[in-house]
Amino acid sequence: MNCSSIVEANKDCGQFMGKAMEEGSLWSATAQEHVETSPLAGDETADLVVIGGGYTGCSAALHAALKGMSVRLLEAETIGHGGSGRNVGLVNAGLWTPPEGIAEILGEEAGARLSTVLASAPDLVFSLIDRHAIECESIRSGTLHCAHSPAGLNDLRERYRQLSAQGAPVKLLSAQETAQRTGSDQFHGALHDARAGTIQPLAYCRGLARAAQTAGAHLHEQSRVASVSSDGNSWRVETKQGVVTAKHLLLATNAYFDGLKGIAPPQSIPLCFFQMATAPLGHNVRHKILQGGEGGWDTAAVMSSFRKDRAGRVIIGAMGSLDAFGGVLHRGWARRKLRALFPEAGDQPFEHAWFGKIAMTGDHLPKILRIGPNGYAVFGYSGRGIGPGTVFGRAVAEAFTGAGEDAFPVEARDAHTERFTGLKRRFYALGATLAHAIGR
Ligand SMILES: Cc1cc2nc3c(=O)[nH]c(=O)nc-3n(C[C@H](O)[C@H](O)[C@H](O)COP(=O)(O)OP(=O)(O)OC[C@H]3O[C@@H](n4cnc5c(N)ncnc54)[C@H](O)[C@@H]3O)c2cc1C
Repeated sequence: MNCSSIVEANKDCGQFMGKAMEEGSLWSATAQEHVETSPLAGDETADLVVIGGGYTGCSAALHAALKGMSVRLLEAETIGHGGSGRNVGLVNAGLWTPPEGIAEILGEEAGARLSTVLASAPDLVFSLIDRHAIECESIRSGTLHCAHSPAGLNDLRERYRQLSAQGAPVKLLSAQETAQRTGSDQFHGALHDARAGTIQPLAYCRGLARAAQTAGAHLHEQSRVASVSSDGNSWRVETKQGVVTAKHLLLATNAYFDGLKGIAPPQSIPLCFFQMATAPLGHNVRHKILQGGEGGWDTAAVMSSFRKDRAGRVIIGAMGSLDAFGGVLHRGWARRKLRALFPEAGDQPFEHAWFGKIAMTGDHLPKILRIGPNGYAVFGYSGRGIGPGTVFGRAVAEAFTGAGEDAFPVEARDAHTERFTGLKRRFYALGATLAHAIGR
């Protein structure tokens, strides 16, 4: 990923300034999976053209190719350039919104369907990792949603009630049990979800891409789609150096939609989230922190995340972008947070810092949009895209190979409108900056 592309990709999150660029993403530095592709050149035809090489696009390409479709996937930068290569790596079951909240928004039947499908999303992710031998530091020992306050604990109790009613293997942990599991005495309790786990997110994305190639899909990095058109029977998708004509189209650009004429950008609110990773900790310190290998996040309104990687680095994350002004405050906060959570690791230097854009929707639910004959855009996972992106990508492949829209976990729509996106983006960014300026 080159610097100019990072600047471009993060323009919605403010001006990008030097330091984070020098330190770079941990995931880019340590990914064990690699994909080799060449840019699209000349005229090609395919059954399916996919725009965007994240989880959604790569999962769709893999599952469509396994079902016998000829596939061309076009990625403007490199595989995993978007959210899929920058995220925390928490493979969660379900969405942020608990099952009853989803049912309130979608209605009982549609809500139950989405919750059921996404409850088993980690099963799909970890089975693909096994089946295609994806080297992505996968650990399936659950996640810890940690209460930062007594009110946060009440929220977890309610989530526990709803998830238990669904039959989910969740457990409410006391403050003492949480301290043992996390290695931190900062929490009032935690919700452990045994269905979930952690991965090296970029390596998983590249692994999906490699599996798609092995199944026969053609992948093209450095192939930014400039325009898309349809004559009613087929799609014509153009890059600077080539054209793909295909009956089916998937737009999987999510929060990173960029430079594409002929399709209106799917509407979402871009929120930035940054992470900072320490140097690998000494063995005497690292085994006290998250010794079961879970990833965690807290119940605070300005949420923060924490996990380790295989080498024993601690990775702290929170809302915000590492730009000129906010970046200084976010970095200062990360140091204070590390000291507060894990005092023994508190003075470890940070070696990596990076951030990415999350596509939020107003109701925090993902969307499938009809964009023309045999064409869909899938987006808006609202910060929960590893499992859902993999599931929705597979669903699109199933829809195009006979199942039709019945394959979709949510109903496809003809239009989706988000209101006041710029205002909401600024509101969240300012809130995170203020919270990090004064809090820990
Ligand atoms: C910092 C961060 C932390 C997160 N943490 C988690 C987490 O712990 N767990 C979780 O489940 N989810 C998490 N998420 C959300 C998750 O990462 C995303 O929902 C998911 O990666 C979206 O995948 P995608 O394939 O839909 O889109 P993306 O991965 O964003 O891929 C879109 C791709 O489209 C490409 N593109 C754009 N325009 C064009 C064009 N014109 N031509 C060709 N290609 C184009 C982009 O370059 C990009 O690679 C997080 C997100 C961020 C940013």
